[in-house]
Amino acid sequence: MTARQQFHWKGLHVPFIAPWSEEKPLPYKVIKRVGPDGVEGIGYADEVSSADRRDGNLWVRWPALRGRGKPRLADIHPLRQRQAMSHMLCMVCAASTFNDEFRQWGGKHLFIGRAVDGRPIRDGERTDTPPVCLPCAVEAAEACPHLVKGHTAALVERAEPWGVAGIVYDPRTLRPIPTRNKNGLTDVAFEDPTLRWTLAARDVVTLHGCTPVNLADLATPSVAA
Ligand SMILES: [Zn+2]
Repeated sequence: MTARQQFHWKGLHVPFIAPWSEEKPLPYKVIKRVGPDGVEGIGYADEVSSADRRDGNLWVRWPALRGRGKPRLADIHPLRQRQAMSHMLCMVCAASTFNDEFRQWGGKHLFIGRAVDGRPIRDGERTDTPPVCLPCAVEAAEACPHLVKGHTAALVERAEPWGVAGIVYDPRTLRPIPTRNKNGLTDVAFEDPTLRWTLAARDVVTLHGCTPVNLADLATPSVAA
């Protein structure tokens, strides 16, 4: 795999999944449509491209203009998030996390998140945060404004596809149904019929075989080696 271009901004390594100011969602119109299997759901009025769907689910349209304008570090580019999650790429540098550490750790990926009440990442936990490679995790824990306040890390055996997070449309009014979530997105499982009325913006997985780890401990052996 070829190394992807890395971007820095004011001393921060800009994560692969962070959107840039020139990357704004494209205008769209949602309509009711009957799918190939005869089930109703939403579609784009001008839907033509197979790029609008993944596994039959409608996805938001965003341009890919990485590095243009300013990075929006608190936000997530839906399509790069999906790319990182589906291929288990590091969310910061976009390198595969099927790497030397993965093998060293007995076939596990590293996941980090902001510590919520200091609790560790638990088995079966749902997340839209892709994995991270060890050097990027160490760097992020020190530099990322979201993580310096406290983070939690785990080695994870499997990230299983669970569903998407997206904007759910009311089947009668075709208006977005309000959500209390800060990012405006609702988690919808793949088997939930609501999925047909959801405009996906994140790939959501569940984490299994989780072992909580301390990043500093994890990083020490490889530094000494
Ligand atoms: Zn990385």
